[in-house]
Amino acid sequence: MSHAYAAAKRGLKVLVCERTDQPLGASIRNFGFGVVTGQREGEMLDLANQSRHIWGEWVDHANINAKRNGSLLIARNQLEAAVLESFVENKVKQYGYECELLSEKEIESMYGGQFSRYSTILHGKNDQVVFSREALPQLINYLSFLPNVTMKFGTLVKDIDVDQGKLSTTAGNFDAEHIFVCSGHDYQTLLADEIQQLNPMVCRLQMLRVKPAKEFPLQHALFTGLSCTHYDAFRDLPETEILRLAMESDYPEFVKHGIHLLITPTPYGELIIGDSHEYSQFPRPFSSEAIDKILLMLAEETLGLKLDVIERWAGEYGSKGSEPYSIIKAGKFATAVLMRTGLGMSVGPALGENVIAKIYD
Ligand SMILES: Cc1cc2nc3c(=O)[nH]c(=O)nc-3n(C[C@H](O)[C@H](O)[C@H](O)COP(=O)(O)OP(=O)(O)OC[C@H]3O[C@@H](n4cnc5c(N)ncnc54)[C@H](O)[C@@H]3O)c2cc1C
Repeated sequence: MSHAYAAAKRGLKVLVCERTDQPLGASIRNFGFGVVTGQREGEMLDLANQSRHIWGEWVDHANINAKRNGSLLIARNQLEAAVLESFVENKVKQYGYECELLSEKEIESMYGGQFSRYSTILHGKNDQVVFSREALPQLINYLSFLPNVTMKFGTLVKDIDVDQGKLSTTAGNFDAEHIFVCSGHDYQTLLADEIQQLNPMVCRLQMLRVKPAKEFPLQHALFTGLSCTHYDAFRDLPETEILRLAMESDYPEFVKHGIHLLITPTPYGELIIGDSHEYSQFPRPFSSEAIDKILLMLAEETLGLKLDVIERWAGEYGSKGSEPYSIIKAGKFATAVLMRTGLGMSVGPALGENVIAKIYD
């Protein structure tokens, strides 16, 4: 959709082929969390900031319900607090992150004092949340009404000719000036040989949608110091290494299943919580109740609220690339753009814009 939007904006004639009848992939299974704070300084941070801007356009054009007032990163203990303090001291100003530690007074005054037992909370001001399963269809709806865009859902692209610009699909054959293969973590249908050379892996994650036992109108994305061992922004701080070692000895189950806590609000007073990380070439279908229990326990403990599960699902995304994304120039008329890490909601819009700009501007 990012590529389609960027191309449509330039007045190009766009055809989108999607094999399912509606979006069902990673882009609607996620938290809807546009993360800027957690990005590695440099290109990823730039892409995330640029993407936030594009999300702003989508929010306006497609009337998407978005919470754009940022995230709260809660330190649950001294080790996590040390990482956040070090991040603020060594990276925030130096690399242009828009975030700050909240004062005691600010913490006390938010959410009726629900988080006042924490002394260190980082407010990432540019982070945002959408409810992906609604936001994506809204964006698709907006795009499909543009006179230069045709959406073909329920249409599998069976083959492409990268030297002639031809597509063979279940809805017939088409010619294209350029074909952009944005096939997520499907590594076997299109450009299988080229993609195989990347040694692609898939990450499988367990997710839950829950309802707080008492009303809790969360307006921020919420995560904890556990995520500092996961997001690249914190990766090279000595305090993160200390935290990682402590987690390995104190919470081996978290490390084993790649569990860290993320909580995002839906527009309906519910929360999406996750996630675990299991890497393989061919993900197994079976979800572990033990992992869900840990996620629930962490979320209830962090929020100080009892939560009732409404829904469970597993998500998958392309992962463990040597780079966060891969661009394959497959031929004169085709380019594949694949996210290789779980950050497509945060950087995908800018990636689409920049890939299209490079070819057409
Ligand atoms: C559980 C979970 C949590 C996540 N959390 C976050 C987060 O907090 N922040 C963040 O930034 N990112 C997050 N991500 C990652 C993000 O969702 C992905 O990086 C992003 O959605 C990838 O987008 P995509 O368009 O490449 O893939 P997808 O959304 O999977 O779309 C690819 C589409 O291509 C279609 N397709 C493939 N082959 C063909 C073909 N031959 N013909 C027709 N159609 C085809 C598929 O059907 C699919 O719909 C998360 C992902 C998951 C699963």
